[in-house]
Amino acid sequence: MPELPEVETIRLDLEKTIINKKIVSLKINKPKLIKNVKLSNFKKDLIDTKIVSINRIGKLLYLRLSSQKFLLIHLKMTGQLIFQDNKRIIAGGHNYPPIDDQLPNKYSHTTFHFQDGSALYFNDQRQFGYMKTVDRDELNKIIDSYGIEPLQKNFSVEELTKVFANRKSNIKSLLLNQKLISGLGNIYADEVCFACKIHPGNSGNSLTKKDIAKLHTSIEKIIANAIKYRGTTFKDYTDARGQKGNYSNILKVYGREGEECVRCKDQKIMKIKLAGRGTHLCPKCQTI
Ligand SMILES: [Zn+2]
Repeated sequence: MPELPEVETIRLDLEKTIINKKIVSLKINKPKLIKNVKLSNFKKDLIDTKIVSINRIGKLLYLRLSSQKFLLIHLKMTGQLIFQDNKRIIAGGHNYPPIDDQLPNKYSHTTFHFQDGSALYFNDQRQFGYMKTVDRDELNKIIDSYGIEPLQKNFSVEELTKVFANRKSNIKSLLLNQKLISGLGNIYADEVCFACKIHPGNSGNSLTKKDIAKLHTSIEKIIANAIKYRGTTFKDYTDARGQKGNYSNILKVYGREGEECVRCKDQKIMKIKLAGRGTHLCPKCQTI
C-alpha cells in the first residue's frame, strides 16, 4: 500500500503536470469505486472544471477544483495514478500492472481526459481505492478526523506522547491508526520500530518519555528520507529522467524475513502478525 512518502511523491509529480488542466470528459468503468451518492454529481463537479491545486492529508490526496469542490483520491492497497500526454508517462502507486503497460488497460477504472489531449488514469487491481467529490465543509471534517502527521507542525514529542500514554494497545496498531498518526503504514511502522529498538508488540503505555522522543526523531528521519528516495513502491517512468527512485534498497526489516539482522548480525528477521498485519522485527535488537 502506498504510504505517506509514496503518496507525497505522486502529489509532487502531479503538481508539475495537472495543475490548470481542464477536465473535458470522464470515462468511468467501475462506478462502485466512486463514493458520491449520485454518480451524476461526481461528473457534474468535475467536467468543465480546472484543477487548481493538489494536496494531501495522510495517504489521502485532495484536488481543489475551479468548481469550488474537492476531488478526494485514495489509492488504498493497489491504486495507481498515471498521467499521460504525447511525450511522457508520469505515474505513481502500486507496481502492478507495470506502468508501461498499454493505457487504458483492464485496471483503468476511471479516466480523466483533459482539454489539451492528455489524460489521468486511475488504475486499481484489487479495487479498494476510491474517489469522491466533496465541498469545503466535508473536506474539513475529513481532515479533522486524521491524526498528527510526520513533517507537519502538529507532529511534536508532546502530541506523540498523547498517542501512547494510557493506551494498552500494541505499538504497531497505534502507529497504523490513521486517527492518531496519519500517513504511516506497514512498511514504515516496521522500519521505525527497528530503528528505535522497540518491539512493536509491546503496549503503547510501556514507552518512556525517552523512548517516545527517540520514536519521534526516527519517524521524521525515515519519512523524510523515504520521500527523498521517492518512496518504496513508487516507480517513475518519465523518459526525461529515466529515474527509478526506490527506497526498498534501504529497508532494514520490511520484507527481509529470514535474512540476517543488519544490526546484530546474530539473529534472523522474524515476521509475526500484529494488528492483523505482517510485522517484521529482530527478536534480539528490539526489546524496548
Ligand atoms: Zn538484530
